[in-house]
Amino acid sequence: MNAIVLDGRPVARDLRLRARDELHDLIAQAGSTPSLSILSVGDDPSAHAYERAIIKAARGVGVEVESVHLPGAASQDDLDRAIDSLNDDRSVHGVIILQPLPSHLDRVEVSDRLDPLKDVDGITTFNAGRLFHDDRDVLAPSTPAGGMALLKHYDIDIAGRHAVVVGRSPVVGKPMSLMLLAANATVSVCHSRTSDLANFTKQADILISAAGRPGTIQKHMVKPGAIVVDFGVNFIDGSMIGDVNYDPVRSIAGAITPVPGGTGRVTTIVLVRNTIKAMRLQARDAATFEREFVSTHYRKGS
Ligand code: NAP
Repeated sequence: MNAIVLDGRPVARDLRLRARDELHDLIAQAGSTPSLSILSVGDDPSAHAYERAIIKAARGVGVEVESVHLPGAASQDDLDRAIDSLNDDRSVHGVIILQPLPSHLDRVEVSDRLDPLKDVDGITTFNAGRLFHDDRDVLAPSTPAGGMALLKHYDIDIAGRHAVVVGRSPVVGKPMSLMLLAANATVSVCHSRTSDLANFTKQADILISAAGRPGTIQKHMVKPGAIVVDFGVNFIDGSMIGDVNYDPVRSIAGAITPVPGGTGRVTTIVLVRNTIKAMRLQARDAATFEREFVSTHYRKGS
C-alpha cells in the first residue's frame, strides 16, 4: 500500500491564515506593518527562485518585503556595510541573507553581524543558543521549523519515537535534530562520514533527509510504515527532485513528503511568521536590558 502523501499546501494555507491573524493583531497594537528585507549577493539561480517564493509568501500575508542585492564581486566590507545598514534601519524588522554566498565571503562572520532580533532565519549564534535552550522567544531556522509544523499538521506523534536525521548543517539538519529532541523523540544524526547509513535509517520511525544528494534514501533503507520527510532540493535535467527515491520509498513508507510540494512550501510562510514575531520581540524589548545586551554582546562591529 502506498504511503500517505504529506502535502505541504494545506499546511502552508493554515499557517498563512494564522499569520494574517497575527499581523492584524500586531498592526492594531503597533500601528505599523512588519517589513522583511531579502539580502542577496551574486546571481545564484536557486537563491533567486527562493527570493521570488519569499516575496510571494510575504505579500500573501500582507508583510512588506524589499530586496537588497549586491554584485557577486562585493567584498566582505561591502556586505558588512549592507548588514549594518539593515540592522540600524528601524523600519526593517526581519532580514534574511540568501545562501549560497560567493565563496570569498565568510558565512559565520556574516551571520553574526546580523542583529539577532532581526534574524528571521535563525542563523546567528544568539538564536542557535536560544534553540539549544528550547527558549520560546527563539527566531528558529525556517526550514526545520516548517518541517516540525508539517508533522504537527498531520498529527504525527513524535514523543518516544526514533527520529533519524540525515544531514548536520547549521540551517537544516542540526536544528531539526534539536527540535525533534525538544519534542521528545530519540534522535540519531547521520552525515557523510556515517558508516553504513542504511543501518541507521532502517531503524527510523521518522526519517528526515537533508543531505542535498538525490538518491540518498532508497527503499531498502526505510522501515515499513516510517514517516519520511524530504528536505532535499536537487535539479536533474531541469526537474526538481528530493533526496528520497520517491516512488519506491512511497510503496513502503507510512507517510512521505513530495518534492516539490512538500517542505519547501512551508518554509517561506514560516519565514514570514518569523518576521511578525521579530517585530513583536523588538517592540517588547525596545527599552529593556535584553535589547542592550543583545546589541552589546552579539553584534560584531557595533
Ligand atoms: P549542506 O549544508 O550541503 O549539508 C548537507 C548535509 O548532508 C551535510 O551535513 C552532509 O554531511 C550530509 N550529507 C551529504 N551527503 C550525504 C550522504 N551521502 N550521506 C549522509 N549524509 C550526507 O545542505 P543544507 O543547506 O543543509 O541543505 C540540505 C538540503 O535541503 C539541500 O538540498 C537544500 O537545497 C535543501 N533545502 C531545502 C529547504 C526547504 O525548504 N525544503 C530549505 C533549505 C535547504 P557532512 O556534514 O559530513 O558534509
